[in-house]
Parts: sequence; C-alpha cells; structure tokens
Amino acid sequence: MGSAEEKLRGLPQVQRLLETRQAEELAGTFSRAALTAALREVLAEVRTELRNGLEAAPGADAMLAGARARLEASRRPGLRRVINATGIVLHTNLGRAPLAEDAAAAVADMARSYSNLELDLTTGSRGSRTEPVESLLRALTGAEAALAVNNGAAALLLALSALAGGGEVVVSRGELVEIGGGFRIPEVIQQGGARLVEVGSTNKTRLADYRAAITERTRVLLKVHQSNFRMLGFTEETGMAELAGLGREHGLKLVVDLGSGKLRGPGAEPTLTEAIAVGADLVTCSGDKLLGGPQAGLLIGSAGAIDRLRRHPLLRALRLDKMSLAALEATLRLHRDAPATIPVNRMLAQTQTELQRRAERLAALLGTGEIARTEGFAGGGSLPEERIPSCAVALRPPTLSATELARRLRAHSPAVVGRIVDASLLLDVLAVRDDELETIAQAVKAAS
Ligand SMILES: *Cc1c(COP(=O)(O)O)cnc(C)c1O
Repeated sequence: MGSAEEKLRGLPQVQRLLETRQAEELAGTFSRAALTAALREVLAEVRTELRNGLEAAPGADAMLAGARARLEASRRPGLRRVINATGIVLHTNLGRAPLAEDAAAAVADMARSYSNLELDLTTGSRGSRTEPVESLLRALTGAEAALAVNNGAAALLLALSALAGGGEVVVSRGELVEIGGGFRIPEVIQQGGARLVEVGSTNKTRLADYRAAITERTRVLLKVHQSNFRMLGFTEETGMAELAGLGREHGLKLVVDLGSGKLRGPGAEPTLTEAIAVGADLVTCSGDKLLGGPQAGLLIGSAGAIDRLRRHPLLRALRLDKMSLAALEATLRLHRDAPATIPVNRMLAQTQTELQRRAERLAALLGTGEIARTEGFAGGGSLPEERIPSCAVALRPPTLSATELARRLRAHSPAVVGRIVDASLLLDVLAVRDDELETIAQAVKAAS
C-alpha cells in the first residue's frame, strides 16, 4: 500500500490504454476522439477516487469497460421509450397518450416527405394548415368553427389575448388553479395582456359576484373546469349556462377552459358540445387529454370568436407543426370512425377479467410476485376521485429495496416505470400492452 501520490503515478497514460486490444475493438464503433475523451474521463474519475482514499486503481480492463459504458450511454437518445406500469393512463410525465397505429403511421409519412401543409391542391394556391383538423372538429362537436394550436395552455393564451387583450377577465377565485408544472391560470391571463378580476371566495362564487365585477373594461367571463382537483363540502359554483346568460346581457364573451373535456357520452365531465350548447362563445381544451392523441390545444366556438383568434399575431407562434397535425387529423378520424381502436379508449374500457389475466401472465413470466388489486387513474387532469379498478404484480425482491429495483428498471432499455407502495414495487397492467409483458419480465430478471 503506497501513498495516494504513488498510486496516481502508477496510473496508465491514455496513450497506453488506446493501444490495448479492447480499445482497438472500440475504435471500430466509436471515433478515436470520442474514445480518447471517454478514457480521459474515466482516468479523471479514478484519480479523484484515489485522492479520496480508494485502495487500489482498477485494472486497464475495468477502465476500458468504463469507457465503453460511457460511449454506449452517449449514443442512447435522451428521449426514450418507457413502458408505463404506473396505472395512470394519461401520465403527463410519460408523454400522456400513446398514439394509435394510424396516427403514428401518418406522422412517419409526413416526417419523411413534403406535404400540402399550406397548399390547396385543387387550386394550387395557398391553403390553411389546420383546415382538415378544423372540419373534423366541427363535425365531431357540431361547433360552428374550430382551431387547433400547440397545447391547452396555448389555446387559453390565444383565446384571452384575442378576446380580452387590454381589457378585463372575470374569473372565480375557486378556479385560479395551477394545472401542473407551474402553469397557473392567473399568469396566462396576464400574459394575454388582460387584467384579472377575481370574484367570490375559494369555495363559493355566485352569479351576483360576477355581475358586481362587470365594468366597461370587462371583455370576457372565464370559467375554468376544475380538472385536477375537486372541492367538496360547503361549495357553490356558477354554472356555464348562467354565466352565458350574464355574458349576453352585457355583451361579454364566455370562454370555458375544459382542460381534458370529453367528446361524447354520459359522465361527470361536460362535453365540448354541451359547453357550446349552453352558450359558451369559446371552449378550449387539451387535445392529448381529450382525444388520446398528440399534444395539441383545441378551440371550438362561434365563427366570430374563432375568426378573431385566427387574425391574432400570436397564432403564428402557437401553431402546430406538420407531424402533430398529421397525428391529430388521424386521431380525429378514428374518433369519428372507430373510437374503440384508440389506445387510450381501449385501455379505459378494459374489463377486470382482462386486467387480471394480464397480471397473471406477467407474474407467470416473472416466476414471482403477488397479484394485487389496485386503483388506476385515467389521469391527464381527470377528477382525482375517478379511479379505475386495475391489477398489478407486486414485487418485493429479497435482496434489493423496492427503490433500488425501481431505479434499475428505469435504467433498462426500454425503461419500465412502476410505483412504490409500502416497500413493494407495483407493476400495474392498466397501461401495459400484452406485447410488452416479455420485455418487462426481461427487465426485472436483469435487475434482480
Ligand atoms: C391540462 C389543462 C390545461 C393545459 O393543457 P396542456 O395541453 O397541458 O397545455 C389547461 N387547463 C386545464 C383546466 C387543464 O386541465
């Protein structure tokens, strides 16, 4: 055992490591410069560790293996595939919705080629990039006019800038919500160049509160759907129909931010069509939450209101690119023609038996784990109480903590993300496809 200084002097030069057989092999795949840089990094790390009291430097083999690991990691894309075993179908951190096959194929096709994005192929003159999507939205909702932008936040920003910029927006204190990721409704209103007038209290806002706040500067009454929380108990909110009536009395626009919203069907969430039917001038929502499609913001409403949005300069900054438009159009077509084939719809319609069988298959492939009944979520800002009965395989590895197993599964390619409950790692099958089960089993075996 020598001093740290002696050990440091004993380290090989980069040049000597570059002359080893392993380095020659790596040079076949990676550039000389990248290999040299990786070896320098490994050596620097070893030097630090030796100064911090490491007993002995690793051998040349280990250092070359370290360089290989670094080089391989540098080739892996930053944005990677994840298998969603969290039990949350529209998981914002996991990119919300997996696209339907048709939508994914449309994206790939548009990505590789030119397109008629802004060319009318019948006349040969300039066309509208969103017209195909708009006509599908009109047909699906019965709205007079429609528009699509980059995301739900952009839809709200554009709506308030175009309809209330320079004026005032009246909104209930119970609806000044943070949607997630630090996105807050009051900030969007201010960015839109409008002044926010808060009315009522957190738990109660009556029509009279809105009425008392109206001045000659008021332009918009805003109703924000409480999509990611719910107030219970002593509460009162003013409905869309009453607000629409008040708006008409005073010549004001009613803008409704539905967040996730719904296209059709019964349930607690209002549909876009209902919001228009009760008198909203403009309804905004998040396209990926509503449709299980690509990230997008959707706007439907009166021709007059949509037209003002269309002429606003912000529209250009918030517009969708060709790939998102291709995915959105394909997804809307499926909503019209075959909604049951959309992956998110399919996941939400699974029976307990299907879920139970999938969990059993996974447990069999793993050769371990207990089947647990769980509560999954639609996610994407749906009501927190809206739970979906699901099934999971609960893993409690004998030699690892659940946290460490979860970490190793995240490092796998593709990554597998579950959730930890009471020292067990739950792999929920609600948002897992049958063809992903083998991969999960391989990942768990490699990690344990
Ligand atoms: C999710 C949500 C938004 C934002 O939509 P994004 O598409 O995520 O930008 C806005 N308002 C409400 C009520 C929401 O739930």
